[in-house]
Amino acid sequence: MGEATYCFQTKLLHNQHKVDPNTGAVSVPIQPASTFHQFDMDHFGQYDYSRSGNPTRAALEDAIADLEGGVQGFAFASGMAAISTAFMLLSQGDHVLLSEDVYGGTYRMTSEVLGRFGIEHTFVDTTDIEMVARHIQSNTKVIYIETPSNPLLKITDIRAVTELAQSHGCLTFVDNTFATPAVQRPLELGADVVLHSATKFIAGHSDVVAGLAVVKDQHLGDQIAFLQNSFGAILGVQDAWLVLRGLKTLQVRMNQSTASAKTIAAFLEEHPSVDNVYYPGLASDPGRDLHLSQANDTGAVLSFSLHDEAAVRQLTEHMQIPVFSVSLGAVESILSYPAKMSHASMPAVEREKRGITDGLLRLSVGLEDHDDLIQDLTQALSGVEAAAVSKQ
Ligand SMILES: *Cc1c(COP(=O)(O)O)cnc(C)c1O
Repeated sequence: MGEATYCFQTKLLHNQHKVDPNTGAVSVPIQPASTFHQFDMDHFGQYDYSRSGNPTRAALEDAIADLEGGVQGFAFASGMAAISTAFMLLSQGDHVLLSEDVYGGTYRMTSEVLGRFGIEHTFVDTTDIEMVARHIQSNTKVIYIETPSNPLLKITDIRAVTELAQSHGCLTFVDNTFATPAVQRPLELGADVVLHSATKFIAGHSDVVAGLAVVKDQHLGDQIAFLQNSFGAILGVQDAWLVLRGLKTLQVRMNQSTASAKTIAAFLEEHPSVDNVYYPGLASDPGRDLHLSQANDTGAVLSFSLHDEAAVRQLTEHMQIPVFSVSLGAVESILSYPAKMSHASMPAVEREKRGITDGLLRLSVGLEDHDDLIQDLTQALSGVEAAAVSKQ
């Protein structure tokens, strides 16, 4: 009999680390040892030093590799540590093409750090595949995309980008933080490296900072393993355990939050004080069909724009349920203001160019009852209307 293949929800719970073979424990043991005794001087065991490899971290690395459909996974101290380490695949003189509305930290690292090491970059609107093709240079080695993007939820065609990249001998990196492998699996669409801020949906409880990388083939696996060990930005074992625990409920959290996000997006779209709603789950969204051709659902993050900063101030001061903070992908709803939070490191002109205006808000929908969230939005938005009227 062949090995059973389980669907995603089952794989979250039933994997090779479900039971500790030594004790039968149904939770992965936290192994804090920094070093491992070698019983044979000529043949070292699987582990020697915990920067290079640790069984608790390995359980998480195996889990994410399996869930993303890759050959090897890596756990890092943060999403930025994972992303930065992956960029170390590049060398002086190389060039990288990136989605223009990448995560603010990725923008900062690319524009302010990589340049000092002689690595060039260009930001392009990767939703326009012709534009991507036009900006590939002879030294382009990586095309880096985020889809859905942050914070405008723009959709890039993963298959088209990976085909283009392959025909030019480039790698494709995908930041899959917004979708998670429960919703979208870029390696199956041709990508080479998938990156995550596991701080967000994967861990899901706003209580740990972590990053993950998964690669498509063993050659890349060997290279990233070397870089992970060389740079040493590894995830600690306590944090690896927290991510493993959060991961078990990824699918049910995504299902519930996505259903609420759809209802809330539809509500906002009808509201007179809301100018625009950005969410691939809306029938009116220009990226919807493309997104659903490469993902199985539309996720739990949406953005919407109000008239101006004063309206944003009104709303945020009156919302009761969501926390007002950076981050996303948690059990509690998180409302954030990209212009002053996630994209504060982007100059104002660059932000405006990308549509990240002073009226834009991002809502990561949590697990609260959606009627309560809508009621909360209704009362807070009524304050926005009042403010607009009193100005006239
Ligand atoms: C948060 C985030 C990151 C950075 O991850 P950290 O864990 O905060 O270092 C990268 N990409 C996206 C899309 C994010 O939302």
